[in-house]
Amino acid sequence: MITGATQLLGVIGHPVEHSLSPIMHNAAIAQLGVNYVYLPFPIEPDQLETAIAGFSAIGLRGFNITLPHKQAIIPLLTEVSEAAQAVGAVNTVWRTDAGWSGCNTDVTGFLAPLKSMDRDWSQTIVLVLGNGGAARAVVAGCSQLGCAAIWVVGRNQAKLEAFQQSWLASPLQPKLSVHLWDTLSERIPQAGLIVNTTPIGMHPHIDASPLGPSLLAQMQPAAIAYDLIYTPNPTQFLRQADAQGAIPIDGLEMLVRQGAAALEIWLQRSAPVDIMRRSLKQQLGLDS
Ligand code: NAP
Repeated sequence: MITGATQLLGVIGHPVEHSLSPIMHNAAIAQLGVNYVYLPFPIEPDQLETAIAGFSAIGLRGFNITLPHKQAIIPLLTEVSEAAQAVGAVNTVWRTDAGWSGCNTDVTGFLAPLKSMDRDWSQTIVLVLGNGGAARAVVAGCSQLGCAAIWVVGRNQAKLEAFQQSWLASPLQPKLSVHLWDTLSERIPQAGLIVNTTPIGMHPHIDASPLGPSLLAQMQPAAIAYDLIYTPNPTQFLRQADAQGAIPIDGLEMLVRQGAAALEIWLQRSAPVDIMRRSLKQQLGLDS
């Protein structure tokens, strides 16, 4: 129930109508029985600064950021975590006495299923398919894991070079190299973790896969196949990798865990991860 003492959380974006965050966070808030509500705030790019000043004025406790504000928010914050600076994007902001602090829980969310595997990652070569925004969170995460090498594979040489350049001043100093898509056949057999950060295979193109059968057949038997896509669930890539004996991880877990990490920052208590996951599955029609 919303009362005079209800505290505000939310997500800003443009558009924001399709965000799953209100579903997931309000399910968690109901489960915890705390007096908060999580709202969607559609904010035009040229209204960002005004909106943040308004959030300060009304005492909003914290918010998530989705496209197109993930980079533009950075100059409006008083503090930005090292990982978020390295990624160049903030997705979670909270109030402090000094102003607004920001971090990137996509990195935390990406890492959560990998950390639960309790492995030594120092010998693992990571193959990242794609060089867009999500690939940046993956590179930061794999760098934090201490992976032996991170190979980013893309289809556009100029974009790949720009991607590599952008990490030169990063405090994370990832062991990063960039490669064109047509080098995959020599790289796949060496990779212990393959992450799809492209939209290939995303609904409605559910029969597409970033790797064809002959490339998939070259995967190490115990490799981890991680797809950031969460609908369909599992993707064709994960189905095929699973059939090859690889360990599949889907994007729903990253989505849930980035939300849980944000809620834990705002509420300073453990998030009900199972409830958050269930609410998303229900919303996406993934109940089994
Ligand atoms: P993005 O910035 O647009 O990057 C997409 C990347 O995929 C680009 O490097 C693009 O290459 C590449 N790509 C697109 N189509 C391709 C094709 N046909 N062949 C080869 N490469 C192709 O998008 P993003 O924000 O990184 O998101 C990527 C995916 O991750 C989306 O499916 C998104 O839903 C998912 N995601 C999931 C989560 C989660 O919580 N699970 C979080 C973030 C993102 P070019 O640069 O050459 O165009």
